Amino acid sequence: MPAVLTIDVSQAAIRPGQIFRQQLSYIPETGDLSEDPKSAEPVTIAVEYSFLKGVYLVKGKVSARMGMECGRCLEPFTHLLEAEFIEQYDTETVADESDSDANVVVAERIDLTQKVRAVLLGAVPMKPLCRDDCPGLCGTCGVPLAEATCGCVQDEIDPRLKDLAHLMEGLKKKGVE
Ligand SMILES: [Zn+2]
Ligand SMILES: [Zn+2]
Repeated sequence: MPAVLTIDVSQAAIRPGQIFRQQLSYIPETGDLSEDPKSAEPVTIAVEYSFLKGVYLVKGKVSARMGMECGRCLEPFTHLLEAEFIEQYDTETVADESDSDANVVVAERIDLTQKVRAVLLGAVPMKPLCRDDCPGLCGTCGVPLAEATCGCVQDEIDPRLKDLAHLMEGLKKKGVE
């Protein structure tokens, strides 16, 4: 991720208690969000930060439009990922991070890269659906049922029991032969 995810909090340090807002954005690189993001749209982060009693409080709302594949019908679609975070950074932690090149300005900057990345990854659904009621594919002929109805008779067997049913059928046949 590029360095644009760093915020300069020096103004907040001068005015304790005051809330500052900043809008950040970046174009995700392939592999940033998932194996195959198919997304070139910018990720935006609305950041709110303030400083009080030696602690920076940073709130962020991350939004990203991400290309993914429906877990039921396998159609590609774009999904809006939204996630929020609240993080505290105490002045000592911030100073520690700048130890490598003891620069005061660096000490007043907070790098949100890792946070944003973690928050986005956490927001990616385990089984994305193009829509909540996506009917998926016909179990018999594979036609996407959202677009067409096939002539197949939909069997009422729970898909989890299907394998078992097949197995039973096979055993039955064997018994007859
Ligand atoms: Zn779908
Ligand atoms: Zn069918």
